[in-house]
Amino acid sequence: MISGRDIVIIGAGPAGLTAALYLARYRRAPLVLHDGSSRALRIPLTHNAPGFPDGVRGPDLIARMTRHAVQYGAVVEEAKVTTVEAISGGFRLNLEDGSTRESRAVILATGIDLNQVDLPGAVHEAAIRAGVLRYCPVCDGYEHLDKRIGVIGCDTNGASEALFLRQYSNDITLMPLSHSELAPAQIQELAAAEIKVETGALIAVAPGPNHIGVLLEDRARLEFDVIYPALGYRPRSSLAQQLGIDLTEAGCVTAACVADSGVPGFFAAGDVVEGLDQISVAMGHGAVAATKAHNWLREQDQDTLQNKD
Ligand SMILES: Cc1cc2nc3c(=O)[nH]c(=O)nc-3n(C[C@H](O)[C@H](O)[C@H](O)COP(=O)(O)OP(=O)(O)OC[C@H]3O[C@@H](n4cnc5c(N)ncnc54)[C@H](O)[C@@H]3O)c2cc1C
Repeated sequence: MISGRDIVIIGAGPAGLTAALYLARYRRAPLVLHDGSSRALRIPLTHNAPGFPDGVRGPDLIARMTRHAVQYGAVVEEAKVTTVEAISGGFRLNLEDGSTRESRAVILATGIDLNQVDLPGAVHEAAIRAGVLRYCPVCDGYEHLDKRIGVIGCDTNGASEALFLRQYSNDITLMPLSHSELAPAQIQELAAAEIKVETGALIAVAPGPNHIGVLLEDRARLEFDVIYPALGYRPRSSLAQQLGIDLTEAGCVTAACVADSGVPGFFAAGDVVEGLDQISVAMGHGAVAATKAHNWLREQDQDTLQNKD
């Protein structure tokens, strides 16, 4: 039998903390475990988080969300979960420090890791804070109206980011990381949209406080107001995989896992789930996963007062 609590949430980003708030208000005293690496902590100032017309810094949003969940009884602990096992009546989570936590249900809200341009860590983060290096056109393309925008990655992903950004500026350049994988039809589509396509391999990225330089093979240094690397991502979905949950081709858990992962008592929320990687989506997943988990626990306890949401 389980000696732990009703539910553990793995992740203290927008998804995990929304789930924690809902579960705390369902009087489940959720435990949130996190390893301090929410992507939201890296957001200098977001302008598309609903309810913040003047924008909000990522660290401030996470601090407010943590306070909100803790106020209703959630417990937040910093600890990396290395493995998860299904045991009788629930799950055992093994932590990096050698200790374990047990719970009847789990919500996985572990997010993704971005594939980044090759820069020393401190230089990379300073460029993000300065706003010259960006990774999410949906989040902040609007902030670059009529600016010189570079996109790194001459493949389907890079081409579609360049085409998306074209609505904000007529000065878009697509550059390869090493070589171009563009099909002739994509090259034509980019040309029709008046997007410049470079072919020389990337040698270096040189961020400054207001601009960012790019050195390509056989080319003079190019200057941009902002660069968007379109280099893909690595979902942090290994814990789901350990339980035998199928992943998408990209390595995410499927959208169905927000409500039903196929493993009773195990749910998922946020960027680790396939789909649009955004704060608002992560919050919505968190609310749904929390409510599904709560109702699942009530069903196990044969509680007849079902919330039908
Ligand atoms: C620079 C930047 C700017 C962005 N700008 C915007 C924007 O303007 N608008 C917008 O909507 N989105 C923006 N995003 C995306 C946004 O940050 C994500 O969509 C959002 O954070 C996803 O929330 P999440 O809770 O799913 O994951 P995350 O916020 O990434 O949180 C994941 C959590 O899981 C924890 N975790 C992972 N693995 C483990 C483990 N093994 N053990 C314990 N804990 C673990 C981490 O510590 C973290 O707490 C931006 C992202 C970046 C990087």
